[in-house]
Amino acid sequence: MINSPRGTRDLLPPDTALWNFVEAAVRDVFRAYNFHEIRTPIFESTELFARGVGEETDIVSKEMFTWSDGERFNEKRLIDEWLRVNLSDDPHHVQAGRVNVQGNPSILAKLKEVGVQLVWRGIQVRPNLLSGRFEFVAFGSRISSDAITALKKARSIAKSEYSHEFGNHAILLRLVVPDESAKTSPWVATEDVEIEGFAGNYFSSSQSLTLRPENTAGIVRAYIEHKLWERGLNKFFSIGPMFRRERPQKGRYRQFYQIDAEVIGPAASGSQSPARDAEILELLATLLDRVGITGWTLELNSVGCPADRTKFNQALRKALAPVVEKMCLDCQRRYVTNPLRIFDCKVPEDQPIIKTLPTISQFLDEDCRTHFEAVKNILNAVQIPYVENPRLVRGLDYYQKTAFEFTHGALGAQNAILGGGRYDGLSEALGGPAAPGIGFAIGEDRLVLSLAATAESVIRKPDVYIAPLGAGMNREAARVARELRRHDLVVDLGDESFRLKKSFEAAVKMGARYILIVGGNEVAADAFALKHLASGEQVTVPRADLAQRILRK
Ligand code: AMP
Repeated sequence: MINSPRGTRDLLPPDTALWNFVEAAVRDVFRAYNFHEIRTPIFESTELFARGVGEETDIVSKEMFTWSDGERFNEKRLIDEWLRVNLSDDPHHVQAGRVNVQGNPSILAKLKEVGVQLVWRGIQVRPNLLSGRFEFVAFGSRISSDAITALKKARSIAKSEYSHEFGNHAILLRLVVPDESAKTSPWVATEDVEIEGFAGNYFSSSQSLTLRPENTAGIVRAYIEHKLWERGLNKFFSIGPMFRRERPQKGRYRQFYQIDAEVIGPAASGSQSPARDAEILELLATLLDRVGITGWTLELNSVGCPADRTKFNQALRKALAPVVEKMCLDCQRRYVTNPLRIFDCKVPEDQPIIKTLPTISQFLDEDCRTHFEAVKNILNAVQIPYVENPRLVRGLDYYQKTAFEFTHGALGAQNAILGGGRYDGLSEALGGPAAPGIGFAIGEDRLVLSLAATAESVIRKPDVYIAPLGAGMNREAARVARELRRHDLVVDLGDESFRLKKSFEAAVKMGARYILIVGGNEVAADAFALKHLASGEQVTVPRADLAQRILRK
């Protein structure tokens, strides 16, 4: 049996109804705040994340699914090189192993249609008169059934359509592939095709690609690539899967889903303003309330600007120097690379030490402090509750100033539903123009886990189950179903081979409200037996009134 890979899961009905409910609500909220959807690829060049997330973050250093893209094959170079070596300098004589004639263009064009580049060996004595040894040569990146089949097809076309030229000659077939691909695969029958491995490198250097572990970098990449600021677009959201090679546990998966939002733009668009931070936080509170999450906590901090952090890191190193050897290995590494990240540590034994460390708030410069105060001011005005958590830092390099997390008690150890913050330097780090931004990523899996609502409460059950009764009734049932569905009713259908009892059982099992019987008598009368399953009440309803009757509940 083949199971889903470790850390991934299938989202099945009825849970998918809950996911759709969440996504629909989220889209409504985004619309009210004038955010627009953006869909970026689920894989990007590895460099984007190395630069955009940070080389020494856990995500980039340990958790990415990275591969080297199937190397690109340079067919033209292989053909040119092969011809250079094999072309005869005397076009009138057949020389062993040399190509005298590349071919009559019209024949070659015809042969090319079968899917391979071909040349043939032989000699053209006069126009249209060929002699010598004939060989069709095709080129490929590797030995494949397709290339073999195409060669054979080329030979049969030549034999039948150009029998005048080729009829009396044997045509040998040859497939030229780069040396390194010349080993035959056991599942490709090469039969009478000669395989030639040709020395040289015909693969251009490969590109390193990575399944996206988060989407801020991707969205900012798209913002830069399409110059979205020129179109006045600066509020984006996206919903989709992310991938991190973490140790799976409840609420932590290797493929998980995020709902992302980013506000980004030139400073002149107000993207730096604390008003944007407050708007994003207020949006989040609205969003969580709207999907029915109660009891969330907004934790808020300012992580300052890079200059503040340099000072802070110095202070941290000083405080840590006497104790760092007692800490976990990750913290010892962080101590050297980026002490700020020690606050990300979840190891229980390290927590007493972490509690004694200085916090960033003491190191904020005037600008960052004012900005933070302004954010809190607006939150107070719109009555969004928050708690300040001076030890909240974000794992990603590009965060500045506001950093936040929404947590939920029901989630256990992985209690963060979402996190986000301001990233004023990211666009420049990715080679774009200055474009301050702020954004967040909601873990959709965790959002759904902490929902009080159940799938049962949001799923729409069939309004009516149609039971065709007897031969020829599928056709009639299909007509009725089509009419009813036009009225936006949810309709399901049985089969004319079912006995009535079986149809009833099916209708009850799927939770249909009504069952409608479509039999010969009903069709003749153009009125149908409609039974309300909960009450057992049954009425006969003319076709024209059916939809209204079912809609009435
Ligand atoms: P981050 O991009 O690390 O700030 O994560 C943002 C949110 O995504 C977190 O608050 C979680 O809710 C969610 N998240 C992160 N990693 C995972 C994971 N491996 N499985 C499920 N949800 C995750």
